[in-house]
Amino acid sequence: MLELFPISAKIDGGELSLGGVPASRLADEHGTPLLVYCEETIRAQVAAYREAAPGALLVYGTKAFANVALLRLLADEGVGADVSTLGELAFARAAGIDGERLVFHGNNKSAEELRAAAETGALVVLDAPGEAQAAAAAGVKRVLVRLTPGVEAVTHRSIQTAHEESKFGLSPDSAAREIGRALALGLEVEGVHVHVGSQLGRVAESVLALERVLAFIEGLGWTPRFLDLGGGLGVRHNREEELPSVAEFVGPLAERIPDGVQLILEPGRSVVGRAGVTLYRLGSVKESGGVTYAAIDGGMSDNPRPQLYGARYEALLANRAEEPASGVYRIAGKHCESGDVLIDAVELPAPRAGDVLAVPATGAYTLALGSTYNGVPRPAVVLVEGGEAQEIRKRETVDDLLRFEP
Ligand SMILES: *Cc1c(COP(=O)(O)O)cnc(C)c1O
Repeated sequence: MLELFPISAKIDGGELSLGGVPASRLADEHGTPLLVYCEETIRAQVAAYREAAPGALLVYGTKAFANVALLRLLADEGVGADVSTLGELAFARAAGIDGERLVFHGNNKSAEELRAAAETGALVVLDAPGEAQAAAAAGVKRVLVRLTPGVEAVTHRSIQTAHEESKFGLSPDSAAREIGRALALGLEVEGVHVHVGSQLGRVAESVLALERVLAFIEGLGWTPRFLDLGGGLGVRHNREEELPSVAEFVGPLAERIPDGVQLILEPGRSVVGRAGVTLYRLGSVKESGGVTYAAIDGGMSDNPRPQLYGARYEALLANRAEEPASGVYRIAGKHCESGDVLIDAVELPAPRAGDVLAVPATGAYTLALGSTYNGVPRPAVVLVEGGEAQEIRKRETVDDLLRFEP
């Protein structure tokens, strides 16, 4: 199961370690739930993208997890940011990412967002008919146009984004008209954007989308400066999921990019997903109707993916990692809903209160989608590398929650 964990994960003397730090020590020192990111894994994923698409502009899909320290780490690797709100833009700016490496998306950008994007010099992705006008009025100079290529990604319905009825992008006819309007307004139209969906398990639909983009620019007799193919490569959450590597996913796309055009890629999930492990402290263990529940001190407030997408996770006991499994357990969250189950069935040694449960592949769209449901403050986040852990997001407190109560 270690293949689902970050590349630095090791089991030594029955104890899981991440980035050279024992997981139990992280849980003791920083509390639980705790989201742990492995720096080595993030850097290795970026290196895989660089190797598969030399010369491409990489921008991190910030919504997978917006965090200033992670954005800085990525900036250190030359990676920019794909943002779609004032908040995400502020995170990227706080990490020192400048306009050359910023792409601003959104299907309903406000005038304020367009002005903020313009101030930073970000590349703005036009996503609705007439948005060129609003962008020009806000002072935007450089734009891409988002195309809806009519391709159905094989993934959860909520994260398909390029099908006919998508709320994102413009049909080819409408996109061509928008390009005309943008040029007439004096905007630099630097290319076309397409994003097929997220948690993609194969490249076929992305290749099809790219072929439609290529037909579109050919039809206009246009060689744009950029082709932006978005993000989308999935992450393995359990051993049954099969996924292409970065090279297998990006290679067939990169090789179809015409000479003289720069590729932009916007990976989010595949950069940080495997790098993240969530640690929980186990509490009550009980039997109910033939099922044995082990309860964690978090749940749908720090990771709502099981409820939103039917995500299936695996786990191990970090402090008893070498003990053989003794049964199948259901991992229940602490929230007041029967649906707050993190893992429906996982094989573990008989769990005891105080054990540390480690859930791999939880670096993307977990805490980013989290909430303070049930008045539960959000967990802390640490970055581990070379035997050291650095806190990169503080644990929220109940006082933080009360601050918004007048
Ligand atoms: C969400 C999103 C991404 C990142 O997608 P991942 O599946 O996390 O790689 C990139 N581009 C756009 C436009 C997005 O909406």
